[in-house]
Amino acid sequence: MSDCIFCKIIDGEIPGDMVYQDDRVVAINDIDPKAPVHILIMPKKHIPSLLEVEQEEQNILSHIMMVAARLAREKGISEKGFRVVNNCGEEGGQSVGHIHFHLLGGRYMQWPPG
Ligand code: AMP
Ligand code: ZN
Repeated sequence: MSDCIFCKIIDGEIPGDMVYQDDRVVAINDIDPKAPVHILIMPKKHIPSLLEVEQEEQNILSHIMMVAARLAREKGISEKGFRVVNNCGEEGGQSVGHIHFHLLGGRYMQWPPG
């Protein structure tokens, strides 16, 4: 997607603060962090939101969760706890139309989220 900011970061067209990547996913530090650790984990493939994940590519979701756990350990937030969030659609608070999961940690999280 030529107008997708996350695709541009994945393709190296614009800089991103990358903390992990493999053949299927990338993880970048959020540019406007809401917690001491705030990482975005996303598929390299442009999928607009959770609603567009096809049945045959559902493994990407479990892979993203495994990467989240790995990064939580690496960033030192696994023992105290952390949160993984997907915002989907307008009322869900999604602002970038390329599916991504927020890994947040390093402080107490409120419940319910705002
Ligand atoms: P969401 O609101 O769930 O769609 O999350 C989008 C996230 O992307 C927000 O937390 C933004 O701060 C973050 N973001 C937007 N542009 C960039 C960028 N160029 N690099 C890193 N994070 C970004
Ligand atoms: Zn994209």
